[in-house]
Amino acid sequence: MALDIRQLEYNEISEELAKINAPKFRAKQIYEWLWQKSARSFDEMSNLPKEFREQLKAQFDFCTVIESISQTSKDGTVKIGMQLKDNRLIEGVMIPDQNRATACVSSQVGCSLSCTFCATGFLKRERNLEVGEIYDQVILLNKYAKLNNGKGLTNIVYMGMGEPLLNYDNVMRSIKMITSPEGLHMAQKRITVSTSGISRGIIRLADENMNFNLALSLHAATDQKRDEIMDINRSNNLDSLVEALNYFYSKTGNKVTFEYILFDNFNDSIKDAEDLIVLYQRVPAFINIIEYNNVEGVTLKKAKADKRDAFVNHLRKRGITVAVRRSRGKDIDAACGQLANKNDAGITAKV
Ligand code: SAH
Ligand code: SF4
Repeated sequence: MALDIRQLEYNEISEELAKINAPKFRAKQIYEWLWQKSARSFDEMSNLPKEFREQLKAQFDFCTVIESISQTSKDGTVKIGMQLKDNRLIEGVMIPDQNRATACVSSQVGCSLSCTFCATGFLKRERNLEVGEIYDQVILLNKYAKLNNGKGLTNIVYMGMGEPLLNYDNVMRSIKMITSPEGLHMAQKRITVSTSGISRGIIRLADENMNFNLALSLHAATDQKRDEIMDINRSNNLDSLVEALNYFYSKTGNKVTFEYILFDNFNDSIKDAEDLIVLYQRVPAFINIIEYNNVEGVTLKKAKADKRDAFVNHLRKRGITVAVRRSRGKDIDAACGQLANKNDAGITAKV
């Protein structure tokens, strides 16, 4: 298979074009078409001579994702199913808010980690997404943000299917394309990468000199409890995560956001809140309390409202700022952890 043009950075495109003796300025034109004007085929690059476009077609692959289905929730959330070049399917979500439109993008087909509460975790990881495939989700979701909200995307979260830090290179490249002045030129601070906690990946991120936000899917504040629901904790325990996150903070000055789903009778007691406070005191962090979207076949359930309120109040009494996140797009299974290519959504996946 030929090189996919959208896997290449600017200097790599220049190098490849030199091999076919194309003038230097063509690299800049192509790069702008790819990342600024969001072209999705060589034929759209109208200021390139036709013969040159044919030459490019022969030299490079240009893989795009195809929108296969879209659904809009009562609350305005849009979920799109996208078909990849090998017919596999992924999902991305656009979540509108008063002043925002957030794209939630996938980084892998399925996920190799099997967190017990997550619908994506039931799918096996089939492959990593390529840079263009991540970028295309942003382009397609941006279209809906413009259509339904009047303006484009304001934020991007890597919280769809898959573990972004296990597709490290492509995720980083996609962020570079989204933020670069030659690309979409979105501010880095408007991007959030969410990880289940891969210490080595967090350390690598810290060394990138980038300024986007990092969220850790914590969900339990002791190793004993976290081991029970997130297998990854056995090889990346809380001590190793604390160390990696402190390094991340020392390099970037950015606090991590602890994502904490409240599960009924599992991690929602005052003792659990105390454990969370102990951890919070070890790392500069924000806390987001997340409402769980019940998933069929999972014994863990969403916490009761009174337990949630008591938990949150306990943290607040200690002077901790806590954001409580309600779920969006529930009626179309677009909420976090429900991105599992359900058959009833008209989308199927090889499980
Ligand atoms: N793999 C990454 C990013 C994708 S998951 C990670 O785990 O962080 C995005 C977020 O959705 C994570 O915080 C995850 O724990 C959360 N999540 C998974 N299933 C959920 C569910 N059913 N309800 C609410 N949040 C869920
Ligand atoms: Fe994978 Fe994240 Fe789901 Fe865990 S929560 S199975 S890491 S997508």
